[in-house]
Amino acid sequence: MAKILCVLYDDPVDGYPTTYARDGLPNIDHYPGGQTLPTPKGTDFTPGQLLGSVSGELGLRSFLESQGHTLVVTSDKDRDGSVFDQELADADVVISQPFWPAYLTAERIAKAPNLKLAITAGIGSDHVDLDAAIANNITVAEVTYCNSISVAEHVAMMILSLVRNYLPSNQIVLKGGWNIADCVARSYDLEGMHVGTVAAGRIGLAVLRRLHPFDVHLHYTDRHRLPREIEEELNLTFHESTAAMVPHCDVVTVNAPLHPETEGMFNDDLIATMKRGAYLINTARAKIADRDAVVRALESGHLAGYAGDVWFPQPAPADHPWRTMPHHGMTPHISGSSLSAQARYAAGTREILESWLDGTPIRDEYLIVDGGHLAGVGAHSYSVNK
Ligand code: NDP
Repeated sequence: MAKILCVLYDDPVDGYPTTYARDGLPNIDHYPGGQTLPTPKGTDFTPGQLLGSVSGELGLRSFLESQGHTLVVTSDKDRDGSVFDQELADADVVISQPFWPAYLTAERIAKAPNLKLAITAGIGSDHVDLDAAIANNITVAEVTYCNSISVAEHVAMMILSLVRNYLPSNQIVLKGGWNIADCVARSYDLEGMHVGTVAAGRIGLAVLRRLHPFDVHLHYTDRHRLPREIEEELNLTFHESTAAMVPHCDVVTVNAPLHPETEGMFNDDLIATMKRGAYLINTARAKIADRDAVVRALESGHLAGYAGDVWFPQPAPADHPWRTMPHHGMTPHISGSSLSAQARYAAGTREILESWLDGTPIRDEYLIVDGGHLAGVGAHSYSVNK
């Protein structure tokens, strides 16, 4: 029998919800490109309910316990002697979400001799030391596509929010004010701007598709070029590298995984090549940008705005400079954890667990590391330290 250790974010401060803003979720039966949604043999939750917090348990408890497995759920993950650290010692499986990552460092992996499977209930497995997972023959899997559209919607929202100066204008209303000049002195139309994405994978391409109707000029860079039909359909300009693309852009959105090639990419030097007054949106991973370089660029006015939902570490400390830097539109890490996304990644987590417990193959598109090397989607999108 297996021990499954699940690290989830805390319940709402007022307690686990008993009612919701809407009844149910729209029916979506496939992702763009045709990949099917998760296909577990069953689920024990109601789509549209809060599943990603501790009491939601990703809807896994009755499924696992009915088969005799042990499920431990905790939000306590970072302090010395955390429940996560204690329970990890004999865990077979660790599940966590990028929003509240259980950092599976090499040191932690060394103290988890039974660990065989790390599941990311979401997308982005950089909170797992992939080199250590490879060395210790731990399978790493994530629920590919489960929240790609959720993030793309968040990116579109953040681009418009920054360019149109939405959040400060909303603050003026909340404070009882009506000073239109204060609102519009930093407000522009997106129409006609040059918008570029670093990476045009599932999220990056979905962002491009969502922005196309705004009559902007669209740019992208990626390690693999998109099919010519898509480039023509969206009138895309391809650039060989991020460095080649960003000087042309008024808005840059980052949609690449965090791995050795992308860590620290947006440093002082790269930001200096961006147009004065450009906007940078990073919903991918915080460490793709140099924390202090972003602050400096906002304070000097070189960047007109920065927005995203990814921080390091997570949760971000109260004194993290991105909370107080000028002209930002940061949220906590929420873009991929809408109630809509939760239903998909809870089902996907169950599908991965069912496969692993049954000894049947995990879908290739969910695999990041397997059999001691990068595998599946991980082999396509990630790199490891050589
Ligand atoms: P995909 O795997 O579909 O796309 C990633 C793309 O990044 C691929 O096209 C890949 O290129 C490209 N890429 C990798 N390295 C580079 C590089 N050095 N330069 C340019 N492009 C590069 O992933 P998703 O679109 O689904 O997700 C992207 C990332 O977004 C995730 O890894 C995760 O970090 C983040 N994310 C954030 C969420 C949130 O809640 N904020 C939720 C979900 C994801 P190729 O494959 O062509 O080699």
